[in-house]
Amino acid sequence: MAPVAPPRVDVHLHLTRWWPDLAHTAYRADLEYNSAGLLDEMDAARIDFGLLLPVHEAPSPEEALAESRTLSAASGGRLRPVVTVDPTRGEEAVRATVALWESEPTIAAVKLFPGYLPFYPHDPRLAPVYEFAHRRRLPVMIHQGDTLDRKGLVKFARPIEVDEVAVRYPDVRFVLCHFGNPWVEEAAELVYKDENVYADTSGLLAHPSAPYFERMVEQGRARILAAIVSVGSADRILYGSDWPLEELRVATGLIEGMDLPLADRDRILGENAVRLYRLDEAPRAGAGSS
Ligand SMILES: [Zn+2]
Repeated sequence: MAPVAPPRVDVHLHLTRWWPDLAHTAYRADLEYNSAGLLDEMDAARIDFGLLLPVHEAPSPEEALAESRTLSAASGGRLRPVVTVDPTRGEEAVRATVALWESEPTIAAVKLFPGYLPFYPHDPRLAPVYEFAHRRRLPVMIHQGDTLDRKGLVKFARPIEVDEVAVRYPDVRFVLCHFGNPWVEEAAELVYKDENVYADTSGLLAHPSAPYFERMVEQGRARILAAIVSVGSADRILYGSDWPLEELRVATGLIEGMDLPLADRDRILGENAVRLYRLDEAPRAGAGSS
């Protein structure tokens, strides 16, 4: 019998009609930006599953969820929806959005956009979101570090601002997106200290035409490796690309080229994500906290 390849999961993909300025952000100007193009690229990089992260530009939570639900169904479940909410719209709006999610069984995670939007992860208006995540055992992914949008305020997007909710909600798992870049060391401290904190490797690279791109790949790999060494484990590190910003084969190559045991690279490239997002279980609403 042929050995079964370990699963590969990209925890950070963007495919949405509200993606801003594709011509200037995609790794290649002629990118086929649709589900066929994405699935082809996933096949080429041997990626089994991907998480579809929304963008904060979506006009409403309803439309964002409907779009990702449609894309997920069309992909045969290879792409899984992630939902978002803007707490600056107020407590009532947050509660209404969470109520919308309650009856939706396909949600794989919640994503928050501090930095792009002016709020901290410990904003009290987010309490219903964390309670929902707890009830449904869904990870909360938090944008970290640099923003594509120059009007973003990165002070809201530092790993240290996640510490308080990680401690307050020990049963909720948090994912520090982009490994906190540029605060990779700070992110590593949280992954080390808080057992419910994970980090993804997405979006660490600039556009391939950027000066020093090759060296940036080397440096990105070295920075993540140093963080993993200081954490002392690769068990809560998740591969992600930030497609269409990064090419999937370049993003997976960042992990494949790491000077780590093969078992650790397999964990980062998919096994950790299958466990965290329960991708081997059928989607179900109100799964509870069994
Ligand atoms: Zn992203």
